[in-house]
Amino acid sequence: MRRLGIMGGTFDPVHYGHLVGAEGARHDLKLEKVIFIPAGRPPNKPHSRITEPWLRYRMTGLAVASNPFFEVSSIEVERTGPSYTINTVQAISRLYPGAQIYFITGSDALVDIHTWKGIEYLLTICRFVAAARPGYRVDELWERLDSLIGDLRRNIICMEVPALAISSTDIRQRVREGRPIKYLLPEPVEDFIKKNQLYRQ
Ligand code: ATP
Ligand code: MG
Repeated sequence: MRRLGIMGGTFDPVHYGHLVGAEGARHDLKLEKVIFIPAGRPPNKPHSRITEPWLRYRMTGLAVASNPFFEVSSIEVERTGPSYTINTVQAISRLYPGAQIYFITGSDALVDIHTWKGIEYLLTICRFVAAARPGYRVDELWERLDSLIGDLRRNIICMEVPALAISSTDIRQRVREGRPIKYLLPEPVEDFIKKNQLYRQ
């Protein structure tokens, strides 16, 4: 059976946290590849200002270019209206019939899992991989998941990712304040941000 990873996110911008998490999942779960899917218009971030989807798509493409097991998909940026994980996973299952799909996400994202659209169905058509920082209280997360989704939590796998305090929010703030972003994200992405004058204000 084919095993595929999906790494969804806003990727505004993509950074080494995303890449290290995806590579760890690819190795641990023996995934054939990981498809990065930049969100079109994320339903959980409707009011904040988000960089134009195609620019985020291009940055993600630059970031994954050096890894033969990574690719980027435009299925969400092509879609108008909000993008929900359920629609994305369904679209990928249609493209790869019979494949086992692993949706990679930060463990922080799971605390409001019960509010995700179609979560019960979602957890029957894919498994979640929750990337946690070392020292993260996994037992607390399990307890919470138990009370939120019960037995379905068996379809969630926890994975440790090293030292990743990197976030897109912090990178955007650094650019605004003229502080360095070097070594937080791949160089081609850094160059792209400069050339296109992203996050200046
Ligand atoms: P923002 O700060 O704008 O929320 P972000 O850095 O959290 O951005 P997203 O695009 O929101 O990036 O995240 C995409 C996915 O990657 C989410 O599942 C998120 O939990 C995960 N992720 C984000 N940062 C890290 C990190 N440093 N290590 C591992 N996973 C991460
Ligand atoms: Mg985030």
